Amino acid sequence: MVIAKEYGDEYRLKAINMVSELRNRVGHENMMWITYRSNGLVERTLCKACMTEEVKVGINYTVVKIHFDNGSDHLTALCDSCARSDMSLEKIKEIYTLDLAGWLMEEAMLPSSFPIGINWEPLVNRNPTSWSLLN
Ligand SMILES: [Zn+2]
Repeated sequence: MVIAKEYGDEYRLKAINMVSELRNRVGHENMMWITYRSNGLVERTLCKACMTEEVKVGINYTVVKIHFDNGSDHLTALCDSCARSDMSLEKIKEIYTLDLAGWLMEEAMLPSSFPIGINWEPLVNRNPTSWSLLN
């Protein structure tokens, strides 16, 4: 894919390896937190912590802010009860890796002519150190 080459395949490969390692550990069925319709729109989003609750804005949707060792952060949505539970740092790392998996899927769905790609380098070269509720 042109996009991956533009930003360097090694970082995209690191993302793939991180996702593969998690898949090998938790199983494929525990990776499928997001499904897409054939037109590319999101069909369903499960909570990435419990993988059972469907996350819906205004119903059971809580945004968690993951803090990284390089000072950056990342917002991700979980179900209310998981977001307010005492999640381990290992669990937060898994949740972030599931977001990486989602970005890989979205990148794969982009047409090769799409002008904007994913810069994987900053996404794979950071480690979660803590997390907090956004609100
Ligand atoms: Zn949950």
